[in-house]
Amino acid sequence: MTDALPTRMMAAVCDGPGTALDLREVDTPVPGSGEVLVKLESCGVCHSDLHLRDGEENLPDAFYPVIFGHEGIGRVVAIGADSPGAPDLGTRVGLPWLYDTCLACKPCRSGWETFCTSQTARGVQHNGAFAEYAISPVAFTIPVPDGIDVVKGAPLLCAGLTAWSALARAEVQPGQNVLIVGAGGLGQYAVMIAKARGAQVFVVDRDAAKLKTAKALGADHIIPAGPKAGAQVKAAGGADVALNFAPSPAVWDTIRDAVNPMSAVVAVAMVHELVDLSLMWLIDGGHRVFGSSVGTRQAMIDFLDFAARHPLPIDIETLPLAGVDEALNRLKRGEVTGRLCIDFSL
Ligand SMILES: [Zn+2]
Ligand SMILES: [Zn+2]
Repeated sequence: MTDALPTRMMAAVCDGPGTALDLREVDTPVPGSGEVLVKLESCGVCHSDLHLRDGEENLPDAFYPVIFGHEGIGRVVAIGADSPGAPDLGTRVGLPWLYDTCLACKPCRSGWETFCTSQTARGVQHNGAFAEYAISPVAFTIPVPDGIDVVKGAPLLCAGLTAWSALARAEVQPGQNVLIVGAGGLGQYAVMIAKARGAQVFVVDRDAAKLKTAKALGADHIIPAGPKAGAQVKAAGGADVALNFAPSPAVWDTIRDAVNPMSAVVAVAMVHELVDLSLMWLIDGGHRVFGSSVGTRQAMIDFLDFAARHPLPIDIETLPLAGVDEALNRLKRGEVTGRLCIDFSL
């Protein structure tokens, strides 16, 4: 580590479940072997951070104190000893949810590290990017192209990447009909990416304002959620691909009613309740139903390259690091329409 770096830094620290994030000075982390130190320029504020702060993820006591934040962009300012393959000092890199994985199991070896059962997450098992500096393992440090706006680009690392990966897993083809259930942040990115891939896009949501936003972002058909939503999609051509971004089991009936034969149905939103899936429906329709979780390193490289060439305009509200706890309160009260992002220059 070079002498020029401060030994102390500001961070928003969570000391236990259900406690407000405390902005205070802590030791600047020192990168070990196979790690780099990143000076943050931006970090998106995500609903997952709110669930973590409010203790809804039941983190073990040993995890605290912890620093959340998994949509960080910054520059490499120090490289740990014995770190082959590390990006050069000054390289702009992304710090996403996936912190590292075992790199040895079958999913890891086949390029599907997002399904590694030994994976760890940034802002959960490791300190995240609600801090002036953060550590990143070299093997999971992905450069951010120059064409990505340093602040507007932060949510690409979580919401955008998750939407991109779900569409990629479904192998969406030009001309296909894609149904997006849930038009929050992830759904909005999915609308833009599906349109860029040449799909016709249907969006179902119960919130009229979100439907309006989806329309403005390019959705071809917007349909209010409800018992008739699936039939309305079917009547307008049906869905070849359906992606669920809404955290409710009620969406299953809509998807089942909406899809065409041989559809691909992708589960993305975390729905813990069971849904009524008929094996005969699977057989008769030849459907594929599968899940998708965040995105692999290769997906992030592909997606950032795409996003650098295709603007994905989404409302971003910036705030200083000191405002992050209040930002989570506003998210909780449902007062935020776009995405919130810490700008470390504020
Ligand atoms: Zn997130
Ligand atoms: Zn693994």
